[in-house]
Amino acid sequence: MDRVKNKSLLHKSSFINGTWVKGDGRTSFNVTNPANGAPLMSVENATEADVHLAIASAEKAFPSFRSLPAKSRAILLRKWYDLIIENIDDLALILSLEQGKPLAEARGEILYGASYVEWFSEEARRIYGDIIPAASSDKRILTLKQPIGVVAAITPWNFPSAMITRKVAPALAVGCTVIIKPSEETPLSALALAELAKQAGFPEGVLNVIVTKDAAMAGDIFCQSSVIRKLSFTGSTAVGKILMRKSADTVKKLSMELGGNAPFIVFDDADLDAAVKGAIASKYRNAGQTCVCANRIFVQEGVYDAFAEKLKIEVERLNVGSFDTKDVAIGPLINKAAIEKVTRIIADATGKGAKILLGGEPHALGHHFHQPTILTNVTRDMACFSEEIFGPVAPLYKFSSEEEVIKLANDTPYGLASYFYARDIGRIWRVSEALEYGMVGINEGIISSEAAPFGGVKESGNGREGSKYGTDDYLEIKYLCMGGLT
Ligand code: ADP
Repeated sequence: MDRVKNKSLLHKSSFINGTWVKGDGRTSFNVTNPANGAPLMSVENATEADVHLAIASAEKAFPSFRSLPAKSRAILLRKWYDLIIENIDDLALILSLEQGKPLAEARGEILYGASYVEWFSEEARRIYGDIIPAASSDKRILTLKQPIGVVAAITPWNFPSAMITRKVAPALAVGCTVIIKPSEETPLSALALAELAKQAGFPEGVLNVIVTKDAAMAGDIFCQSSVIRKLSFTGSTAVGKILMRKSADTVKKLSMELGGNAPFIVFDDADLDAAVKGAIASKYRNAGQTCVCANRIFVQEGVYDAFAEKLKIEVERLNVGSFDTKDVAIGPLINKAAIEKVTRIIADATGKGAKILLGGEPHALGHHFHQPTILTNVTRDMACFSEEIFGPVAPLYKFSSEEEVIKLANDTPYGLASYFYARDIGRIWRVSEALEYGMVGINEGIISSEAAPFGGVKESGNGREGSKYGTDDYLEIKYLCMGGLT
């Protein structure tokens, strides 16, 4: 943390109603560097009273914030964006330190996260209602779009910065006030963003951050609160389901961005070099720890061996190391449980007949590092077919027909990202329409963009983040019926 130049970005406690609440006997916990386990900073746990205070502050701030002209909110968001860009080096460093991803990737995440702030600063002024032709001549039908109210956002550790801006920027753009609960693994990036929001001039109570190791405590209070009208969550399907159940009593509007089990299909007419490039980008980014990472790579039998060989050559070149190592491509996994999961999934696969083409073991660097791994002879009965690996392991399945692979690709309760490589235009349309996924990368391994709607179907969740649809999740449509117009 000594290397962070702008020390004002470093905070150790929750941000509520414009102030950093600390002391008063609050307990603390260490945020650690996943590359070596070293403590980075001791941060204070928010109490139950802190969570209630954040909700009350956001409630109090809502009426005046929603009443601001859209242009004023646009200007605030733009200032926040400018400050994020000004501080990109420090923000990337904080992110790499607490999350482990290579510095270049962390910079990429800060830019990507900031792009949502920029985008929604522009969208803030484009929230339109409608006038709808009425069924009788003495009536007029109008719709207004209004901010839903106080929003709670619960975010994960794999994108400590971008998962926050992707929710918070559209919420603020339309006039909602927010309470963010970042992952306990990576709260420092969230607190740095809050500091910059404060500097940008957002009024007190408009943006609050709750830091706590007791996620369920904060989650329960959010779910039970009738003041919070909307909960936006990114994380595991298991926790998402808990939050959905707990939100039933207050009938909250929910956005759920949950787990994935992305198929990555390589057809025999694909450009194999492009497919290898896409597979690496999709599979090994963030050491395989994204919900859109290729989780099952299906390769048509005629090109299976050639694809596996080309992939091996490229993956062998990926350097593993700490975020600031030269030319590093793969950092550590987030914690011990993540390494154990990857080890279990590889052992399960090899126990059932899979072959290790590359890697297969924890990395000699120790701690949470794992070798980039390729498995061949992988089959449907292995755990890697149904579980999200969340690690640098590429399992290669062989298929023969288009019909067969569509069936296999859709054979999962998940439906977030999917990818395929093909050149035949008929096939491209057939497969795009048949995949039961919210997103399809066609001859492309990187699909996220602030201009596109990110989100899933089935048990991968609901709601869309980014794009012209991104504000919908934070708006209510109000219908005005004007009568007596004769
Ligand atoms: P992951 O497996 O990616 O860590 P989680 O779903 O466990 O995903 O975590 C995502 C976010 O959900 C984190 O901010 C975490 O603190 C939070 N979280 C975990 N359990 C709960 C819970 N019971 N209630 C509310 N939030 C939770």
